[in-house]
Amino acid sequence: MPIASLSPVLAVYFSALAFAAGACLGSFVCCACSRKKEGESALKGRSSCPCCGRRLKANELIPIFSYIALKGRCRGCGAKIDILCPISEAVLAAAYLAALLAFGISASALEAALFYTLLLAESLCDIYTGEVPDFLHLLGAAVFLVFAPFDGGASERLISGLLGALLCGGGIFLFSLAADKALGCETLGGADVKLFAVLGLYFGPAKSLLAVILSCAAGLILAAVKRLGRREAFAFIPCISAAAFAVSLFGDVIIERYLGLFAL
Ligand SMILES: [Zn+2]
Repeated sequence: MPIASLSPVLAVYFSALAFAAGACLGSFVCCACSRKKEGESALKGRSSCPCCGRRLKANELIPIFSYIALKGRCRGCGAKIDILCPISEAVLAAAYLAALLAFGISASALEAALFYTLLLAESLCDIYTGEVPDFLHLLGAAVFLVFAPFDGGASERLISGLLGALLCGGGIFLFSLAADKALGCETLGGADVKLFAVLGLYFGPAKSLLAVILSCAAGLILAAVKRLGRREAFAFIPCISAAAFAVSLFGDVIIERYLGLFAL
């Protein structure tokens, strides 16, 4: 059901709900990933300041607003709160809202929201630890398999997804092997290749090619902004995730416009 077909009150209600759900999930994902960095259990224990160990009160756990109210510092010791926390909360809140506006109240919106949550988790794991656990890729594939039947042409989407995973994952894998050999260093991590295979599943061959192009463009822009040297390593998964987010919302329009350039 498109959001525009709802009454204004209901549209605002569902938008606020999507925003709040995204902010809360963003907070949870960031907390779990940062605990992994400290070598702690990702899911156990109450939230506390990593500097002074003070347990956070309920009013310090409200996503986005707590960070603003506390001016980015722990109330106990004054240590700076990790800026990635409010960023993750705001990004996933905006992503959930975008999924609702683009896909309405539907299975596709729920699938997109889960997909964005996984992309955020993979990005944060890469930033914090430089590693992405395989279960996140498997979870991505599982979400695709669960939601494929809801998409009308289920068998079409399955075939296109498998072909995309094979071409995108396989193509990037072969490219990284050749590039490693030519440059004499590791160019892409295993997690990057696996995520491209998952994107192939979601997007099929054409849109996953677009995701690859946009990921490389995002990587080049980031390297230029951070003034990285040619062989300096950096977390590439946030670039792939940003590209995947753009493709999930605008992929069809971009490809249509591009093909339109060649239409007679
Ligand atoms: Zn503290």
